[in-house]
Amino acid sequence: MQLIDGKELAKNLRAEIASGVAALKAEKGVTPALAVILVGGNPASVSYVTGKEKACAEVGIASREIRLAESTTEKELLDIVKSLNDDPAIHGILVQLPLPKHISEKAVINAIAPEKDVDGFTPVNVGRMMIGEKCFLPCTPHGIIKLIEFAGMDIAGKHAVVIGRSNIVGKPVAALLARKETNATVTMCHTGTPDIAAFTKTADIVVVAAGRPGTLTGDMLKPGAVVIDVGVNRIPDASRPKGFRLVGDADFESCASVASAITPVPGGVGPMTITMLLWNTLEAARG
Ligand code: NAP
Repeated sequence: MQLIDGKELAKNLRAEIASGVAALKAEKGVTPALAVILVGGNPASVSYVTGKEKACAEVGIASREIRLAESTTEKELLDIVKSLNDDPAIHGILVQLPLPKHISEKAVINAIAPEKDVDGFTPVNVGRMMIGEKCFLPCTPHGIIKLIEFAGMDIAGKHAVVIGRSNIVGKPVAALLARKETNATVTMCHTGTPDIAAFTKTADIVVVAAGRPGTLTGDMLKPGAVVIDVGVNRIPDASRPKGFRLVGDADFESCASVASAITPVPGGVGPMTITMLLWNTLEAARG
């Protein structure tokens, strides 16, 4: 059984991104820059934003942090996004989600200029992805494809089952797997699927993005399947300094005993999500 090391793949890709950033600076005098907007002080969001800024610094991408009070109005936030759209020194705009309840996430995402939408969340980028036009691919799904390839699997002709149909993971990863250049046959499962195991038992690849620990167990897998565990769940654990530990959506022990390869949590999909954000920011700066 192979542990698919997202940290190692992320490290390799980040080295490639760092040389791309250095070349762009040397050849065109352009430093890729990412604006990161954080509204309020949600601890998980603060830690995600800090991680993204640190990763930017490590590859030579400039980040501009815009921290706003929880009480910021939708109009104020939209004005900031619009001014960043018009700022030639900024190549990528990231709005950390979730936003406070009084702000429409849809309105804010829609306001980001598609050419600066390095998360790949705007309807324009999603539409371009669906019809196979050049676009920013959403970071987590793009990272998942890279992880499956890194595991040594030729995706073409394989049966992939995706558990989850969210707009940020399930739907786009299913769309990417089914693209002609990837060429998998894809089944998407969700809470309306009566017998998920009936599908996963025939799957060569299972991507589980449900946000529920234990959604995938070893007895649901075909021997030799590749498992990509996207879930990040906090489980109370008094033995840990923070009082919790992170687990994925797959029951690691039982899945690892049947799968040929599996991503760990943490250290699998997570490092790839940030890496693909850096990738998109470099692409945005290249123009
Ligand atoms: P989400 O918006 O809550 O969507 C979860 C999806 O899973 C929904 O489509 C839901 O079905 C389905 N689902 C839930 N329980 C299920 C079950 N028992 N059986 C079958 N389907 C089930 O979550 P998300 O944003 O896609 O995120 C999923 C997980 O990935 C979360 O743990 C999140 O923290 C993690 N995540 C990690 C990264 C990373 O970089 N590592 C990035 C993004 C997300 P319905 O549509 O029927 O409700």
